[in-house]
Amino acid sequence: MTPLSQVLSGYSKALYSSWLYYKPDRILVDCGEGAASTLGNNCFAIESILLTHGHIDHVSGLPGFLWARTSAMGANEKPLRIYFPRGDIFFADMRAYIDAVNSKFTFPLEWIPLEAGESFELQRGRSVECFATQHSQGSASLGYKIIETRKRLRPEWANLGQAEIRQRIQSGETTEAMMEEYAGIKLAHGGDGLPLDPNLIAGSEILVHEATILDAANRKGQSHSTLGEALEVANAAQPGTLLLNHISGRYKRSEIETAIREGATQREIGFPIWCLRQDNLWPVWNPDSSANLNSPAAEPS
Ligand SMILES: [Zn+2]
Ligand SMILES: [Zn+2]
Repeated sequence: MTPLSQVLSGYSKALYSSWLYYKPDRILVDCGEGAASTLGNNCFAIESILLTHGHIDHVSGLPGFLWARTSAMGANEKPLRIYFPRGDIFFADMRAYIDAVNSKFTFPLEWIPLEAGESFELQRGRSVECFATQHSQGSASLGYKIIETRKRLRPEWANLGQAEIRQRIQSGETTEAMMEEYAGIKLAHGGDGLPLDPNLIAGSEILVHEATILDAANRKGQSHSTLGEALEVANAAQPGTLLLNHISGRYKRSEIETAIREGATQREIGFPIWCLRQDNLWPVWNPDSSANLNSPAAEPS
């Protein structure tokens, strides 16, 4: 499995800023403060921005990003698409500013509103499907899945041995008749909100789930998930790798690591768990290793 750091980079701190760059499809999910300055030249690689919702910690980096695409050295004329939840009430002021300066941008900018269940094609043969999340009261919010069409043996063939399959091919079965297409989820990103429905995101290669608070006693009526809830969702959905983000700044790194390892041990979690805390993206839990993973870099906590 590809280490997450080869395909993802980003920043996440609840209430301050969140964004995630998914390199294989040149996608930026959310665009919190500081996205452009951290991405640098990678600003020009991005083809689509997928906004999960209009809270300021997820959109405050947009003006800087759009101006960087205009003013910095790079592909200044490359088109950009911004997808957002139709009916989001928090985004209006930011959108008004961007619309007011849009004529000064050097590239075509397209805004595309989406509703849960809608999908669109990406380049490179993949597509994006969005789903409803439960987050901001009275406003819309979305999660996104990057989907790849894959082929597998039909269920009636799946349990046959190699010899049996060979024999059936020799007696005239075509490989097309034996195979079926299915939608494989490369990445599922739930944005902010209450725990996701595991059925929507089952088997994702990478599942990004928020874990704003470590224990439910601190929830205070906010529509966010706890670490335990995120682990429960992931354990039901069985992703290739779980990435936890949007963790509150009140917790020290060591507290987060301990809580994740305890929760994963308790649930006997069989997939790796990574964390994105501020700009640190690192593995915390590896089911194949009997020892806990050590923090790769010293960080003031
Ligand atoms: Zn947030
Ligand atoms: Zn939010």
